[in-house]
Amino acid sequence: MPQERTEAVVLRGVDFSETSRIVTFLTPDRGRLACMARGVRRKKSPLASTLDTFNRVEIVYYWKDGRAVQNLAEAALLDGFGGIKADLDKATFAALPLELVYKAVHENEPSLELYATFVHGLESLTRWEGDARAHMLWQVLQLMSVAGFEPALDTCVACGRDVETPQGFAYEGGVTCGACRSDVRLTPEQAAGLRALAGSRDGCPAIKNPAALYPLVHRYAARQIEADLRSVRVIDQMFI
Ligand SMILES: [Zn+2]
Repeated sequence: MPQERTEAVVLRGVDFSETSRIVTFLTPDRGRLACMARGVRRKKSPLASTLDTFNRVEIVYYWKDGRAVQNLAEAALLDGFGGIKADLDKATFAALPLELVYKAVHENEPSLELYATFVHGLESLTRWEGDARAHMLWQVLQLMSVAGFEPALDTCVACGRDVETPQGFAYEGGVTCGACRSDVRLTPEQAAGLRALAGSRDGCPAIKNPAALYPLVHRYAARQIEADLRSVRVIDQMFI
């Protein structure tokens, strides 16, 4: 069985037996990858902290076509993103882009750009000193864009007309003009915030009132990937 080596980010770990855990990674070449990590639950196993959620790691695994869970051989920590985990606000909001990636990425599908965007977002959040909610919205919109779910922000999603000042937003695909049906009304401030967040590839821009954009962005993301986002409920319990 061939061994493969890759960089990866830990998306999730689910205990499997008294000593093993199934760990799901995001990888550049194989998309979402689940591996059986044997011995990780033993006392004093160095693997336990290495395979903590959010960690960027280098892994070696045995690849077998068609198998749902591969066997992990080795794992080494590259970046633990301590600046996120030590900050409750950052860690809580960061769970949403993480869950989005877990649910939007397919198994065994090259995901180089998405991987790079996700890691860039985590590195940016580690250093971020502004509003953690704004940063999360920026990460979500950047990830949606590279995953092929970029919202239309300059043309009406229903009739295709150019819209300088959008009047509404449809979760189906983006902004709407005054004549077309929308799911929610959009204020000029919200429209400007969305355009700034979506258009800024390198880093999170300063936006006014991120809380007003939050429901719109997480509902749009959930509609596009056709999945419920559990992290939204955790965020809402903590911050609303
Ligand atoms: Zn229209």
